[in-house]
Amino acid sequence: MADIIKLLPDHVANQIAAGEVVQRPASVVKELMENAIDAGSTSIKLIIKDGGKTLIQVVDNGVGMSETDARLSFERHATSKISSAQDLFNLETKGFRGEALASIAAIAHVDMQTRTADNEVGTHLKIEGSKIVSQDVVATPKGTSISVKNLFFNIPARRNFLKSNQVELRHITDEFHRVAMVHPDVEFHFYNNGSEIFNLPSTKHRQRIVHVFGSKMEHRLVPVKEETEVVKVSGFICKPEFAKKSRGEQFFFANNRFIKSPYLHHAVVAAFEGLIKSDTYPGYFLFLDVDPSSIDINIHPTKTEVKFDDENTLYAILRSTIKHSLGQFNVAPVLDFDHDPNLDTPYSYKEKGAVIPKVTVDATFNPFQETSAKKNAGSSFRKQSTKGWEDLYEGLGNQHDNHEFSSVVIESESEEQGTLYTGEDAEEHMAGTFQLRRKYVVSTVKSGMLVIHQNRAHERILFEKFLGEITVKEGVSQQLLFPLELTFNKQELAILNEIKDSLTNIGFAFQSLEEETVKVTGVPMMVPESGIGTVLDRLMADYMEGYADGSISQAEMLAKALSRNLAVRTGDVLDQESQLMLVNNLFACKEPTLSPFQKITYTIISEGDIDKKFN
Ligand code: ADP
Ligand code: MG
Repeated sequence: MADIIKLLPDHVANQIAAGEVVQRPASVVKELMENAIDAGSTSIKLIIKDGGKTLIQVVDNGVGMSETDARLSFERHATSKISSAQDLFNLETKGFRGEALASIAAIAHVDMQTRTADNEVGTHLKIEGSKIVSQDVVATPKGTSISVKNLFFNIPARRNFLKSNQVELRHITDEFHRVAMVHPDVEFHFYNNGSEIFNLPSTKHRQRIVHVFGSKMEHRLVPVKEETEVVKVSGFICKPEFAKKSRGEQFFFANNRFIKSPYLHHAVVAAFEGLIKSDTYPGYFLFLDVDPSSIDINIHPTKTEVKFDDENTLYAILRSTIKHSLGQFNVAPVLDFDHDPNLDTPYSYKEKGAVIPKVTVDATFNPFQETSAKKNAGSSFRKQSTKGWEDLYEGLGNQHDNHEFSSVVIESESEEQGTLYTGEDAEEHMAGTFQLRRKYVVSTVKSGMLVIHQNRAHERILFEKFLGEITVKEGVSQQLLFPLELTFNKQELAILNEIKDSLTNIGFAFQSLEEETVKVTGVPMMVPESGIGTVLDRLMADYMEGYADGSISQAEMLAKALSRNLAVRTGDVLDQESQLMLVNNLFACKEPTLSPFQKITYTIISEGDIDKKFN
């Protein structure tokens, strides 16, 4: 047989390799910004058009390149940063693989102008799909400017795979933050479609965080500092009361590289134990300095996972350092929000069916807008119920999270049922309902006993309701007497702008979406005034996470997020009226059997099943 193995031509090899380095515009931003940092720049400009699909340009004032270096920089494995394998264990620079520029040039139109301090004129290179199109002499300031246009022009499949400009911009912004945060001494400017969205002057770490995430950060940060033989830890944590549902403000940097580490994240969360609610995350900006030879940097170019030699020790140091900071800055003792013993054992509380403070019967619960909400329009969402037994529940919910107690309640509840169903109620729903362990609503149907999972069922009801409202634009809004001012950082604002129309459809009203503050003038009927901030916060977090996979529509995404965040939870006490509504509304749904998250909402235990128990 004839020989059949061929070496791939360079441009093909480059294109294949490019797929690894460049997944989306944000990857280009990362590589170019890191090169600018490695070049010792003190000022870096990032210019983006159309989410990076049309243009990504990085202009720096670093050392620049000679004519030869300029050409070489686009060759694969061309790097000035290491010369032997041994250097890999002592890396101070961000790049070292010499792949980025070659990869980018293989799949885009690249235009580079660069000049070193000791050359009077610079080099201007144009490369398209790995081919040098032109090379000229140019008058240009010291430093390097690289523009990358028409990314993936020669790989249509990749180009089609890109998300909306807004989503791509968000990924770019994430990369920008990560680089900007570790180099507070470097000045950064970020322009998107012609307008400057970040202007970060040279400063110190703390101020840089404030500039990036907004002035609200100023009062939230608590410094962290520790030096041991294994690691130097510095940076900031956010005070526990500002813990968020979103995971946006958690940053680890190891030797000035952004890293992801679920294990170390856990160490931080463990230090906050008992100070924050179990479904929120503390904000942190932590810089770890370790001996370069003790971390494995020889990782995939786009991955952010690192391998530390001694992770267990790192974990312990981190946890105790943060605990120490929390104590030292008097953050821990000052905190005194409604002490809930369940916070000490966050994992067990679901089983125990304890009540989450503040979410008892009345305060926030008004799921059935069609009837009770309209009835109470204008009032402060408080159910105007006068039934004495409800008050009894309210008291129990607030003060006794003891689960033994709750089973007592349920027994007496079912005993009283007969007397509760009188007059119209009895006619409307002969069977009656009761709540089991603050988790299930039980009723009878012809074939046996109906057991509804209250949280999932309500999610289903709300999901269909919101989905309808978003598309039909018929959400009922309740005007706030005093508009509420909320602060958001730029990225959050961008998301809010993205989903504003849908939010308006379901009843939110915004007066202004400006620099950092948002005036909320109206909210959907069922959102309690006290919870607006939290609801929006959670909504954005869910939206960001969910949208990343991009497989479902914005409307569905939002309806899911809203239902998840507004549905009654396990542990919430439901009054009789709400229980009935839950049953009726669930079966009025198009798909009553599953929650929007594909979990079973109810089951029927047949008479036969019950009979068997008595055999
Ligand atoms: P790496 O950063 O891994 O070395 P790159 O492909 O990103 O590989 O860059 C190749 C080389 O081009 C770098 O090693 C550096 O010498 C040079 N270079 C790239 N960008 C710049 C820049 N902005 N300023 C000066 N030199 C640069
Ligand atoms: Mg590089």
